[in-house]
This record gives sequence, C-alpha cells and structure tokens, in this order.
Amino acid sequence: MRIPLRRQGCSLQMKGSTVRAQSGNTPVLSAEIYVIPLEANRFLVYAPLRHAAFVGNTGIVNLLADLREGRTEECGNDETLEFLRRLEIVDAGPETPPREVFPGEPNPVSVTLFLTTACNLRCAYCYAAAGENKARYMPLDLARRGIDFVVGNALRRGETHFEVNFHGGGEPSRNWPVLTAALAHARGQAEAHGLKLTAYVATNAVFSENQLDWIVAHLDGASVSCDGLPEVHDSNRVTSGGKGSSASVIHSLRRFDAEDFSYGIRMTVTAAAIPRLADSVEYLCANFRPGQIQAEPAYQIGRWAGAPSAETEAFVAAFREARERARGYGRELTFSAARAGTLTNHFCGATQDLFALTPDGSISSCYEVFDESSPRAKTFLYGRSSNESWRFDREKIVFLHRQSVDNRAWCAGCFARWSCGGDCYHKALAIYGEGEFAGTDRCAIIRELTKDQILAHIAEAGGVFWHTPPENAAGGCACVSCGDDKRIPRVPLLI
Ligand code: SF4
Ligand code: SF4
Repeated sequence: MRIPLRRQGCSLQMKGSTVRAQSGNTPVLSAEIYVIPLEANRFLVYAPLRHAAFVGNTGIVNLLADLREGRTEECGNDETLEFLRRLEIVDAGPETPPREVFPGEPNPVSVTLFLTTACNLRCAYCYAAAGENKARYMPLDLARRGIDFVVGNALRRGETHFEVNFHGGGEPSRNWPVLTAALAHARGQAEAHGLKLTAYVATNAVFSENQLDWIVAHLDGASVSCDGLPEVHDSNRVTSGGKGSSASVIHSLRRFDAEDFSYGIRMTVTAAAIPRLADSVEYLCANFRPGQIQAEPAYQIGRWAGAPSAETEAFVAAFREARERARGYGRELTFSAARAGTLTNHFCGATQDLFALTPDGSISSCYEVFDESSPRAKTFLYGRSSNESWRFDREKIVFLHRQSVDNRAWCAGCFARWSCGGDCYHKALAIYGEGEFAGTDRCAIIRELTKDQILAHIAEAGGVFWHTPPENAAGGCACVSCGDDKRIPRVPLLI
C-alpha cells in the first residue's frame, strides 16, 4: 500500500492544500485528508474541514495517494471519483480552516468572577489546593465593575445578551453576600438596558437549605463537581473535617431535579477510580437528570501533583464502557477535547480573551489561574481593573492568541486538530514550560475518542459516509476545568 507524507500518532496525513485549476477532467484532491488505520484493509478516511469521513480499503487510500501526488493516470473508476466529489474531497473549492480574528482590545459580553479562594471542601485532587493558603474574597465593588464592563460592551456591540459566571479557585458560595449582591446588580443592569442575562455557578453543591432555595430561584444553571457513586465521590471529595460530601451533593441534585433546574455534572477520574467509572456514570444516569455529564482524568497539579496518572488506555476503555451505559439512559458522556463535528483552532477561552476576574482585580484568561500567586500568573493574567477603567497588556494578549493549534508544529499532522484545538494550554505549559510542545498523554485519549465520534457519525448517517455542514465552534470553550461546550445545554463545568 502506498501512503504518502507525514505520520503522527495513529494517522497519516494527506494535504490537498491548494486546489489547482482543473485542466480538462483531471481530478484534483481538494481536502486535508487523514487516513487512520482501523484493522486489516480497513481505514477511516477523514476530511475534517469538509466534515466528511468514510471507511475505505487499501484501494481507495492508494487512489487518494495517487491524487495527492498528481498521478492522475491511475485514478480509479468514475463511481469512486463521484463519491469523493460528493464529499468535497475531490474537485471542490478551497477549504477554509477556522481562524479566529481578534480585532482591538477585548470587549467581552461574559464575565467570570472568581469570588473566593476559600472552600468548604478539601478534595484530594484540588487543582487550587483550596484551604492551604490565606483565603481571598472578591469585594462587591469589583464584581459590579466587571458586570458593568460587559454590559457596556453588550450595548456598544448591539448585543441583546450578557453573561455572568461565578467560579472558583475555591467554592463561590463561600462568598455568598457578594454572589447574591452581584447577581442582583446584574439583574438590575439587564432590566435597565433591556438585555437578557444568563448566570451560572460552578460549584461543589454543598449548600445550606437557604442557599439551595436561592440558587434554584435565581440562577440559570450550575456545573456540579460530582464523581458518581457515593463511595467513589467520598474517597476524594471530603469536607474540611474529613467527612465525605456525597450526601449533601445528592441532596442538591435531587432538589435541582425536583425544580427542573438546569445543571451538568463534571466528574474527575483518578487512576484508582477508573475501574468504577462505568458504574459511577450509570449511578448518575439512573438517579439524576443532568443535562450533561463530562468525565476528565484528574489533573496532576495542586494537591494532586505527583499522584498516579489517569491519562491512560484504561481510562479510554472505561470511558467507552461508561459512554455505552449512559447511552442506555439516552445520555451522552463527554470528554472536553473530543468534539468531532466542531471546527475550531482554539481549545478554550484561555487563548481567546476569556474575561475572568481574580479577587484582587487581575484579568485572567484561564480557569486554573485564579489569583496572582498562581505559578502561571505571568502568562494568563493579561490585565487589571484600574480605578474606573481596565488596563490590558496587549503583548500578552497577542501571545495568548498565538497559542492556537494552527501555530503549533506538533499538532500539524494530527487528525483531531481542528476539533481538539490544541487541548489545554495550561497543561501544555505545566509539562513543557516554554519549550516546544511535543504531545501529552491526553493526546492518545483525544484521538481515540475523536475517532469513536467520527465512526459514530458515519453509523448514524447510514453506515457508508458522513458529510454535514460544520458547526462553527469558534469562540466556544471546552475547558478541562469548566467543560463549557456549546454543543450541549449551556452549563459551564469545573473541577
Ligand atoms: S493537542 Fe490535540 S491536536 Fe495537538 S497532537 Fe494532541 S490531540 Fe492532536
Ligand atoms: S482548558 Fe486549560 S488553558 Fe483552558 S481555561 Fe481550562 S485550564 Fe486554562
């Protein structure tokens, strides 16, 4: 079998980068193509920018290779070529890779408020190591200024909507007076200006009864950290007194279901919990009604630095089983960077002007960088609130924008790149620092689960091929922390 060009991971890439003018009836490869071996004489042929894929044999792969190399005299039969034309792989116009443009200074219509670094839990794998340092609390005045800024932007941009998210570094409900007052301010602004407001909280869902009442009455949704089976959850997610928190979380979820309150569940999977993942997902599906369930391997930072990795083949196998169980309940299990069907050159908001405020008034583009003492503060804090205005560091902004997947050499041959978007930049920095990115253990997970999704798309489309207009994922975020994914109900998820 002749297959040309670069090899990376499990795929082979053929780029029909620029479509040449057709002379007569000479067929021309017109798509960026990846060939992913499945089994003997079976290959997944994938054209991400065409949203097209099919399973082919050696003959069709060789035909594509011939086309790529301009050997048109060997170019298959009319029927095969017609099939490839139908998928825009042959003789179509130029492809348009997703490339976000960011003109001028950030003018977001969504603000994330890192309300506090205090937390009522002491989760074993907490990325923020909450509870170990002096807690910081955002003052109401700063929260208001952040809200006013995005309201002003919405009005200037002619938008009809703005968004307020309450997030961590700790548990946002530990700064309850500011959370409730900030939302009241945002609602007042929405009414005064005729704007629609959506407000979410990312939380551990350990609330008092009064807090629960308020949340279901005032917020549009929540992202709840919950690891599934009570014994699995309680092995890591404990109170400051060392007690499991599952009973409180279950109570909150039941209340959310009873009130039809929209929420998603974000599961953190440690190496030890991998064998229980399918049972945990089934437990959640059987007992609760989350709009979304996302499972991510525990990130080895904060209190979990040095812990055994869960970014393994065992995770992929467990995820597949859990996904099947979820489907049995009509639910989808998601993983942040596997999102075949979207097109983007960014993984998350970190490289596209996410506007999050630390308790001390710095502007962060990353959910993991919630205060000035963070090891990555230098990279992700790109501005400050200054008196009544905002100061942005243009150089940092431009640098962050450039961390998109199309600027990363290692990712150039990866079939998942236009949906993965280069994965979590914070994680890449944790591994490689300023050095060149050369892949992570997550890449194998991303590729396996993305491949599953492409095959599922083909199966759903009748089993022969998949070809749909792309959903533009530009501007979306699928944080390994927050999991904010625009394909599914809009509930940001976090650790
Ligand atoms: S980060 Fe994403 S695009 Fe880059 S190599 Fe890994 S899986 Fe592929
Ligand atoms: S995905 Fe990574 S880079 Fe993006 S916001 Fe989350 S931690 Fe930060």
